[in-house]
Amino acid sequence: MGHDKQHIDIAIIGAGIGGLALAIGLTKRGIPVTVYEAAAEFSAVGAGIGLGPNALQAIDLLDSRFRSLYESASTENERPEFENSVFDALYADESLDFGEKIGWQCGLVGAEYFKRSSAHRKDLLEIMKSLITQDTVKFGKKVDQIDKINEKVQVTFQDGHTIVVDALVGCDGIKGITRRAVLQNVAPEEVPAKYCNMYIYRGIVPMAEAKKILAAHAGDAKWFMSKGKGLAIYPISKGREENFVFFIHDPSPWKGPQEAVDCSRDEMISDLASFDGRLLKLLSWAKPLRWPIVHHPTTPTYYNGNVCLLGDVAHASSPGQAAGAGQGLEDAVVLSHLLSLVTSTDQVQKAFMAYDSVRRPRAQKVVQTSEEAGEMYIWNAPRIGDDMSKIVDNANSRLHWIWQHDLREDIARAENMFRAEVQEEDTQPPSYHDATINDLGSEPNRIAATAAGMMALR
Ligand SMILES: Cc1cc2nc3c(=O)[nH]c(=O)nc-3n(C[C@H](O)[C@H](O)[C@H](O)COP(=O)(O)OP(=O)(O)OC[C@H]3O[C@@H](n4cnc5c(N)ncnc54)[C@H](O)[C@@H]3O)c2cc1C
Repeated sequence: MGHDKQHIDIAIIGAGIGGLALAIGLTKRGIPVTVYEAAAEFSAVGAGIGLGPNALQAIDLLDSRFRSLYESASTENERPEFENSVFDALYADESLDFGEKIGWQCGLVGAEYFKRSSAHRKDLLEIMKSLITQDTVKFGKKVDQIDKINEKVQVTFQDGHTIVVDALVGCDGIKGITRRAVLQNVAPEEVPAKYCNMYIYRGIVPMAEAKKILAAHAGDAKWFMSKGKGLAIYPISKGREENFVFFIHDPSPWKGPQEAVDCSRDEMISDLASFDGRLLKLLSWAKPLRWPIVHHPTTPTYYNGNVCLLGDVAHASSPGQAAGAGQGLEDAVVLSHLLSLVTSTDQVQKAFMAYDSVRRPRAQKVVQTSEEAGEMYIWNAPRIGDDMSKIVDNANSRLHWIWQHDLREDIARAENMFRAEVQEEDTQPPSYHDATINDLGSEPNRIAATAAGMMALR
């Protein structure tokens, strides 16, 4: 490459786990970046985020200080015998007493090399904030429109302010505006998230109360299963609280906007009519709010021009494998490395191409297999159904490829691809990817999206 390095202006939209992870990775590599966040402060929405071995490797590669900060905030299973289990599968059937009456003692899912831990999303965001300078994140900056202007990207905020940058990375979550900017011209049907035919009720209960309800089953991650319904619980807040999520299969399409909708307490209880009555006592700590589970199972590209997607906006996943945030962390490791290699604006797309090639197949596989796992845990998997031994065996075999992944190899592969593209740049015609986007676009070299979801070709 050998050229003098130009200054590359990079902006990130969204200060969730994905956006902050990328900011940490870039900051660590000495690359200036600004994160624009719509909210006035970090959002406390969400509860425990479990990080598997792959996600822990990612945080190590982002910043060597990250792991110890995470460990100081994270919570593990209470009992030593559950240390290595992501969950213990049990029956949600009072007449079977969690399965004991038919001889089911426990159904551990995990691995010797796996140690279960999770941190509250809010704590994780605070930790991540401490790894970047205070002025890196600009709050109250909602992006309203994205336009391509020659080789640059213009970002317009709701407050009328505009910026022009060389590279824009959308980390704006499952319904983020950057998804439209990247996909509208290529695959408009892929812009909206797809409903997983499942919604959840969730809440947090003080551990002392959880122990009254769940007795010996409180304090460790458990999955209580039944046909079409399930309950996942796990300890958070250093064991002071228990996080719980009730999953309800819903064969109908989701009506209205993809956001939590109020229901009555009676509706919530009647949704779980056939469920283990002891577990329903947890509902006293749940708001009667139905959260639809939506995801992006098939995203045909993570970039268009100099705009790129990272985290849930690219590959939002249902929570069946507790792996969504981990994929955003992996994205950030690979993309921060690639952007550190970029020496001129015209190389930004080459970095995005290499990132897309390395990250998209793996992240999309996580999305698709997570949906399968979620179905299996509510006894809807073909040929497995309510066979708990088969469920546990399947769960024990399906997570290793996610957890045991060599992220360093991804970095090396992405770097090789990027360097090969840069070497070829003066001799080769435009890459297949560029040609595809321009051919399919309604207007060449123009990407645009507005918050209202309308194409805005100026
Ligand atoms: C029930 C449940 C349990 C889960 N459990 C786990 C788990 O155990 N482990 C795991 O790895 N993952 C888990 N996940 C997934 C994980 O929560 C997500 O993958 C992760 O939080 C996504 O982070 P993100 O930064 O990509 O998006 P988000 O957290 O959605 O952040 C996006 C940010 O962008 C901002 N934004 C949006 N639009 C704009 C705009 N126009 N302008 C400016 N800013 C904007 C938002 O305000 C927000 O701050 C779970 C998910 C669910 C639903």
